[in-house]
Parts: sequence; structure tokens; C-alpha cells
Amino acid sequence: MATVTTSIIEQTEKHGARNYNPLPIVISKAEGVWVEDPEGNRYIDMLSAYSAVNQGHRHPTIIQALKDQADRITLTSRAFHNDQLAPFYEKVAALTKMDMVLPMNTGAEAVETAVKAVRRWAYRVKGVPNDLAEIIVCEENFHGRTMTAVSLSSNDAYKKDFGPMLPGIKVIPYGDADALREAITPNTAAFIFEPIQGEAGINIPKEGFLREARAICEENRVLYVADEIQCGLGRSGKMFACDWEDVKPDMFILGKALGGGVMPISCVAANKEILGVFEPGSHGSTFGGNPLACAVSVASLQVIEDENLVDRSLELGNYLKEELAKIDNPKIREVRGRGLFIGVELTEPARPYCEALKEKGLLCKETQENVIRFAPPLVISKEDLDFALTRIKEVLS
Ligand code: PLP
Repeated sequence: MATVTTSIIEQTEKHGARNYNPLPIVISKAEGVWVEDPEGNRYIDMLSAYSAVNQGHRHPTIIQALKDQADRITLTSRAFHNDQLAPFYEKVAALTKMDMVLPMNTGAEAVETAVKAVRRWAYRVKGVPNDLAEIIVCEENFHGRTMTAVSLSSNDAYKKDFGPMLPGIKVIPYGDADALREAITPNTAAFIFEPIQGEAGINIPKEGFLREARAICEENRVLYVADEIQCGLGRSGKMFACDWEDVKPDMFILGKALGGGVMPISCVAANKEILGVFEPGSHGSTFGGNPLACAVSVASLQVIEDENLVDRSLELGNYLKEELAKIDNPKIREVRGRGLFIGVELTEPARPYCEALKEKGLLCKETQENVIRFAPPLVISKEDLDFALTRIKEVLS
């Protein structure tokens, strides 16, 4: 029987390219951790738009900042200054303890920016011969979908028939410090990695790897670049996932929750020696650093601080992980994660479980074939988390 939901899905599929395979649900409203379909059914969002909605849907402080700024000015382009960029720079510089910030819009664009920055740094600062700079990345990484980002990928599905890929990329197993050491040559510009791999299925590197890799990069004058687009800004129970091993990268790549799920905004943050390589004309974006996104971002970061979302993520994440680990089901291979960033790896495809969870009022998405990712907004209450847990136990037990 046709419903509003089925007819919206049909209309959507009529002209849309099929580059996604969404669950058959339409979300038309949301508040906090709850979303609603056109029929009025409510669900807890356990995905948070791949961690872009850490602050919860339509957080009132962020929406107020959006409205206030929308009433003043939304876009100037970087041909002129705007009065929201400096507060954004200050906020991100203080948070990352870096000198310089370069704003873009999406995560993949920030990754592009990072790649351009480290290559220039290699030629102009380190002295690598022209066009020979190399970048080391990890197997199963996910850095986005642009040509640069898929060139960094080891996943054939992301690259198939999109070639030729960007040259100068070396891939090492995730968490393998010896492989990193061996892959470095005098031409290596950077090691770009996720401190916790999100799309790969919430993979946590072997204890000590982040610290050891940091030391190896330092010894070899290789930039240590952390893609914290998904795992950063409180998601892992620390402000940055690098904080789990107390390492400070040479460059942070941030996105997603930087815009509170309200505006796309991303950035790279690094010291002058690195980001100083850009002169006018060498990089940019029409919408990058627009005042609307900057105002939203400042409010989004403030909410993370004011509402102690980092501590909440750690406490509630520990609780969720412990409870999930109690589920007795031989089909569960592993429960892993940090903070409210948890993967349940199964011995069989995760999609049917996500569909069953949807029927019970929980929106989850499989990542890779066999992993269910649980990553609710960090503002989730203990009560709502228990509501979710009860349903997860019903489906997984
Ligand atoms: N880097 C990481 C670690 C990500 O998880 C993602 C998105 O999932 C990206 C980069 C790409 O971000 P965007 O989809 O905003 O381009």
C-alpha cells in the first residue's frame, strides 16, 4: 500500500543517481536524538549522520546562531573579509593548539587541502625533489570520495573505473609501526591516518601505535596528519581520538560535527611552518569560511564544551559497550569502540539487523558488510540510551 514514505522514496529514486543504498525510511523532522518519519513514527538516531550531529539534531543554541547570522550576512566569498571568520579561527586554534586554520566545506575538501599542504611543505620546507613527494596511508582508510581521497584508499569499490589515481601513495597495514618505518623514504611528506577508523568498522589501532608512529614521523621529518573528521570532537570520549595516546599531530583534519549537523564546514589546522605554504591564489573555495558556517561552527564547538559532551561520550559509551558485551550470541564476533563510537562485528551481514532495529525504532547503519555502528548524538540521555539498549538486546539476543 502506498504511504507518504513510499511515494517520497519513489519520487526520490526517479531522478537521483544511485550512489547510496539508504534504509527505506524518510526522515522529515528531528529534535535531539529523536527523528520522525512523515507518518509520525519516531526513532532514535544511532548514526548521527556519520557523526556530524554529535550535538544532537537542531540544537537550540546552534539554530539560534544560524538564525542570528542568517539575518545579517551569509556569504561574502573570500574576496572580502567577514566578521565571523576571526572568531572561528580563534576557537579552532585554541582547541587544536595550532597557529593556523584553513576552512573548507566538506571533509573530503579538507583532506584535499591537507594533501596539497603536505606536498608543498615537502617541496618547499623539507626539500623533496619536485613531483616526487610521497604520502603514507593505512589499509581500509576512509578519507572521502574525491579523486584525491579515493586515491588514498585501499578499497577497490571506491576506486574501480575512476582511474588514473593520484600517484605517490603508499599503503601500510593499520596499526603496523614497523611497516610505517619501512615505507618511509627521503621523499615522504606525510603519514595521513584516522586515529580510529570509522568507515572501516570502528577499528582501534594496537595500543601504543599512535605514539610510536608519532615518534617515527618525528625522527624522519614526516608530517603526522590526523584525520579526525569522524572520530574527533568528542565522538571517541576524548576531544580528539589522538588524545587517547596523548599525541599531538602536526595537522588536524576536522569536519562533520564542526558544523553541528547544521552547516557543512571543515578545516585543517596546523602550525605556520606547514599552513604558511599557501599564498593567495594557491588554494580556496567560494563557500569556505562563509560567515554563516563560521557562526554555526563557533556555536557548535561551544555546545561541546558547555554540555561536557566529551565526558558524556566517555561515560555513556563505556556503559553502552559493557551492556553490549553482555549479549550472549555466537553471531557476535566482537564489540569494540571508544566513547559513543561503537562497532558490533557479526559473523554475518549486519544489514538485516539494522532493518530489524529500524522496526523497533532505532536507526542504525551497517558499516562494511558485518559491522553495526552505534554512534548516537552525544547529548543522548541515559534514559534514551536504555530505551535503545532494550531494543538492541531484543534484536541481537
Ligand atoms: N574522513 C573521514 C575519517 C570520514 O569519516 C569522512 C566521512 O565519512 C570523510 C573524511 C569525508 O567527509 P565528507 O563526507 O564530509 O566529504
